[in-house]
Amino acid sequence: MEDFKKNLATIEENICKACERAGRSRDEVTLVAVSKTKPISDLQEVYDLGVRDFGENKVQELCGKIEEMPDDIKWHMIGHLQRNKVKYIVDKVELIHSVDSYRLAEEISKQAVKKDVNVDILVEINIGDEESKFGVSTKEVIDLVKEISKLPNVSIKGLMCVAPYVVDSEENRAFFHKIKDLSVDIMEENIHNVSMSFLSMGMSNDYEVAIEEGATIVRVGSDLFGKRDYSNK
Ligand SMILES: *Cc1c(COP(=O)(O)O)cnc(C)c1O
Repeated sequence: MEDFKKNLATIEENICKACERAGRSRDEVTLVAVSKTKPISDLQEVYDLGVRDFGENKVQELCGKIEEMPDDIKWHMIGHLQRNKVKYIVDKVELIHSVDSYRLAEEISKQAVKKDVNVDILVEINIGDEESKFGVSTKEVIDLVKEISKLPNVSIKGLMCVAPYVVDSEENRAFFHKIKDLSVDIMEENIHNVSMSFLSMGMSNDYEVAIEEGATIVRVGSDLFGKRDYSNK
């Protein structure tokens, strides 16, 4: 049995310490509890401990959990999003972290107009230029942000990255630093309807380093909920 209370306390302490080291305030960082593959009972326990931001990476699972969980949860779509599934989530999520193409942003805009909502999104950067990962390259991002910014009912609020899997989190420090630099470059472009309020970076393995480098959202799954079991998926 995972002790969610203990896990959460440890993560909270680590976040506080990382903020302190970086001279940042704790409320600059949001912890998103990544609950993918986990049963509702686990989410409910973590909810009861006070967590209100949850992250999922599959539309069907996300929609099922939205139905079953309390209404005051902020849901974060953090996984690769197919255009034909956008319509199921645009009016239900707080933030879509994983926008990696103009065509996807265009579909989000279209569905948002239809449902008369405004959707906040992050642009996903493939920071390690890994072939296995989604996201745009650092070279493409400014042009993409400019194009997306012209679309109605969708607002870019920052950047997201999934750093390479490493044993020593220090190996990812330079990547996180680069994302922060990139956000400053984008801000300096003064693009209408674009802000860089959110940097979604850092997972169980490297969230402390990410916070030291400027993360405002960390996405923590296994350190909170325990290892994921994909055996019957
Ligand atoms: C699964 C996932 C996480 C959480 O990963 P852990 O290593 O379990 O903390 C964070 N971000 C994304 C995009 C994910 O898919």
